[in-house]
Amino acid sequence: MTNTLSSIVVTDPRTGKTYGEVPAHSAEDTQEAFRVARKAQAAWVTTPLLERKRIFLRFHDLVLERQDEILDVIQAETGKNRASAFDEILDVAITARHYARRLPKLLKPRRVKGALPILTRTVVDHSPKGVVGIISPWNYPLTLTISDAIPALLAGNAVVIKPDSKTPFTALLGAKLLVEAGLPQDLFQVITGSGSVVGQEIAQCADYLMFTGSTATGRKLAKIAGERLISFSAELGGKNPLIIAPDADLDQAVPAAIQACFSNTGQLCISIERIYIHKDIAKEFTERFIEATETLRIGGGGWLEDIGSMISPAQVDHVIEFIDDALVRGARLLTGGTRRSDLGEAYLTPTILTDVPEEARLYREEVFGPVVFLEEVQTIEEAIQKANDTEYGLNAAVFAAPHTGWNVALQLHAGTVNINEGFAAAFGSMNAPMGGWKASGVGRRHADEGLLKYTEPRTIAEQRFIPISGPITMSRPSYAHTMTTALKLGKWVL
Ligand code: NAD
Repeated sequence: MTNTLSSIVVTDPRTGKTYGEVPAHSAEDTQEAFRVARKAQAAWVTTPLLERKRIFLRFHDLVLERQDEILDVIQAETGKNRASAFDEILDVAITARHYARRLPKLLKPRRVKGALPILTRTVVDHSPKGVVGIISPWNYPLTLTISDAIPALLAGNAVVIKPDSKTPFTALLGAKLLVEAGLPQDLFQVITGSGSVVGQEIAQCADYLMFTGSTATGRKLAKIAGERLISFSAELGGKNPLIIAPDADLDQAVPAAIQACFSNTGQLCISIERIYIHKDIAKEFTERFIEATETLRIGGGGWLEDIGSMISPAQVDHVIEFIDDALVRGARLLTGGTRRSDLGEAYLTPTILTDVPEEARLYREEVFGPVVFLEEVQTIEEAIQKANDTEYGLNAAVFAAPHTGWNVALQLHAGTVNINEGFAAAFGSMNAPMGGWKASGVGRRHADEGLLKYTEPRTIAEQRFIPISGPITMSRPSYAHTMTTALKLGKWVL
C-alpha cells in the first residue's frame, strides 16, 4: 500500500498493554485496494461454483483446527472471555458450511413462468455485484468481518473490508486463513484505518455496502449509498426486550436470561437490555436472577470465566454514566455496577437495575454493556406494549409455555424473536433471515437473501414463434379480444 501516514496502536483491554500496531491507511490506499480487488474479481467470477464450495469447506475445517490461535487473537483484542470468543468460531464455521453447500442451488439459473406460456422462455440468473465493501464494529471481530464476507465471496465478488481500529488482527488472521484454504490472494482485502477516512472511501468505492455498527453511523452511510444508488444493508443497534410470562419455566428461564443479558459482557447487538416480568412470577424470577448473576465468574483468561473484560476503560466509563444517570433519577441498583480494578481497568460487574423511570437515558437508549433493567407488569398485553415501545426492532424474546410463547412472539416487532431462548436460537437458524426492523437496520444477513443480496439478478426472456404483441397480421381489436379471453381463462387454468 502507498501513502500510509501513521499507525494504529491496538491495546489488550485486559492488561492495558500494546498488543500490536497496524497501518492507518489513507483514502488513496483504499482506492488502490479496490483496484487490486477488482482485478482479482474478474478472474474469480469464472471459478466454477464447485471449486468455490471446496475452498470454503476447507476454510470451515481450518477455522475449527486452528481455533486456539484464533481465540487467542480475539481475546487479546477484545478482552472477552474465551467462551464468548468461541461463539465466533462456531458462527464462522457454520456460515462457511451453510453457504458453501447452498451455493450450487442458489446460483443455478432458474427457469420461471414467462410472459406468455410456451411462447416466452424466461430464465433468471445472478451475477456478482463486483467489489463488496464491508465496514465492521469491534464486538465480534471474526463473525462481523468474515461471516459477512463469506456469502459475498462465494457469490463471485471480491471484498474490501475495514475492521474496527480496536480489532484489526482478527480480520487479518481470517484473511490469512482464507488464502490458506485456497482463496486467491487479492480477492479479500483487509484495509485498516479510521471510519472517517477508510470507512468513507469504502462507501464511495463499493458496488455494495454491508455495514454493521451504530445506528448513527448507519444513517450517515445510508446517505452515501442513496446518493450513489448502490444497494446497502445495515445491521444496527437494538434495545432488546425479554418478556417473562407467568407460565415460564424458571429453571430454564433464569440461566438463559443470564446468557441473553451478559454474553460477551453485554456488548452484543442482540443482547437483552430490559426484562418485563408478569407480576405473578416477578418476585421469584427477580430473586433467582440476582442470585445467579452474582455467581458469574469474571476474568479474561480461560474457559471457566463467564464474563470478560469490556473493550476499553472508556466503554466502562460510558456504561457507568448510564447507570449513574438512572440512579440519580430514582432507579434502584439490585446488583453490580462496580468497576473491578483489581482485575484490570475495563472490568465491570454485571448490573441489574429496577424502578428505572422513563426519563433515565438507559430506559430507551442502547447501553451496549452488561446492564439490564427489570420491570414488573400487570398483564402480558402490557409487557408486549412496552416491548414494542422503542425506536429499535432488532431482537426480542419471551419465556413462556409454548402456546403463550408463540402467541406473544407473533405480536413482537423485531427482526428476530426467540421463545425460551434469548437470542441464539434465531441467530443460529442460518436458513432464516436475521436483521432489524425500524432503526435497527435495513436488509438481512443469513438465509438465501444473505447471499443473493450480493448479486444482481438478471432476467433473460426469449420470445419464440410469434411476437409478444401477436402476429403482425392480427388487428388490435382481435388482439385485445384474444388477450381478454386468455386472461379470463388463465385465471382458472394457470
Ligand atoms: P460504530 O458505528 O461507531 O463503528 C462501526 C464501524 O464503522 C467501525 O469500523 C468504525 O470505524 C466505522 N465508522 C465509524 N464512523 C464512520 C463513518 N463516518 N464512515 C464510515 N465508517 C465509520 O459502531 P461501534 O460503536 O463500534 O459498534 C457498536 C454498535 O454496533 C452498537 O450500536 C451495536 O448494537 C451495533 N452492532 C450491531 C450488530 C447487528 O448485527 N445489528 C452487530 C454488532 C454491533
